[in-house]
Amino acid sequence: MIGASTLEVAAHEAAHGAAAAVLGRRLMYVSRNLTNCGESFSLQKYGADPLDGVVVLLAPIYAAPSSRYLAIRDIGVARALRQDHGVDVSEALSRAETLVTQPDFRRAFRIIEHGLWSRPVLTGDELALMLSLDEETT
Ligand SMILES: [Zn+2]
Repeated sequence: MIGASTLEVAAHEAAHGAAAAVLGRRLMYVSRNLTNCGESFSLQKYGADPLDGVVVLLAPIYAAPSSRYLAIRDIGVARALRQDHGVDVSEALSRAETLVTQPDFRRAFRIIEHGLWSRPVLTGDELALMLSLDEETT
């Protein structure tokens, strides 16, 4: 197992978190201390496009390319979703590539990434506060 640096894991998880936030999912937590490769969890809004979850899964490929090896597990999950449920992974990749260039994504990404530099776990409540406070000051 490759030992990922804190900065790489923070960027990778921030990409999951920012994609979830921009797509209107409810962030439950973003962390960089579990299993040495971090973990993020968000809930789909009722009635949202089911492909959003796959976009969140694949966003780090484009948003944190220097830590692309951390996405190996995510890509495996996406492949399994394609195989078992016919999920359109190429459409999700295309949406993720576009999403990470949006200003809202860049803003959320920066906030979450910086938060993870000092804290290993950011809860959903903390993330909601961080993302809304920044909005008021910019
Ligand atoms: Zn990941």
